Amino acid sequence: MRRVFFLFILLANFQLAITRQIDINNDSVPESFFITRSRDEYLNKLVSMPFGIKRDEPVDSIIDKIGNFLLNYRPNNSYNDDYYALESNLQAFYSLREGGYGIGAILIDSSGRIIARNHNRQIQRHRSDLHGEMTLLTDFEESAESAKYMNLYLYKPGLTVFSSAEPCPMCFIRLSTAGVDTKYCTSGTDDGMVTRINCLPPYWSALASKHKWVKANSSPLMQMTAHLLFYSFYLDNRGPE
Ligand SMILES: [Zn+2]
Repeated sequence: MRRVFFLFILLANFQLAITRQIDINNDSVPESFFITRSRDEYLNKLVSMPFGIKRDEPVDSIIDKIGNFLLNYRPNNSYNDDYYALESNLQAFYSLREGGYGIGAILIDSSGRIIARNHNRQIQRHRSDLHGEMTLLTDFEESAESAKYMNLYLYKPGLTVFSSAEPCPMCFIRLSTAGVDTKYCTSGTDDGMVTRINCLPPYWSALASKHKWVKANSSPLMQMTAHLLFYSFYLDNRGPE
């Protein structure tokens, strides 16, 4: 009986650690932060962030506060990729503000310069394929500038796509086909394809293995924000009924 009680206290404390205030300077964010399966869980995490959001706030006001936070955020120099994490999160936020899904992506050249920015546009354009990474690559490949960076449909070495979230199976194959390296800000066990590369048919697995897939070195704050932008559909159940 005492053991059960002790376990109960342990679990209750763990839950509190997630739902109250996350220590934003601590690198060890609980893995559970990056798994969100209900609106209730989502809102608990949202109010634990330094956005100034209250639990019963209207959705428009919540979106404004996330935007204000991101527009005033200064990248944390302790993390090499924090500037890119911010830029991809800003793209994710622009999609959220447009009524879309909160995923953003940017394209970086070999000198570290951002040469394209884009975001998910599935809802906005009524298109099943326009995930963040897909929109980024499609619009870039159709631009005049792409000729400088591509060999037919292949990206030249040195280019990196930086996504706010770990690529899904569709984007993972598109990025593999484009031959471009990839970094991403947030990942969770429900989310992406990178850790499931062995589930692919052998040709696709071999093709994907030619390129780098790297979890970015970004601050816990940017990682948690990327997760909350990704799961922002919980705010108003946006998307098909
Ligand atoms: Zn995708």
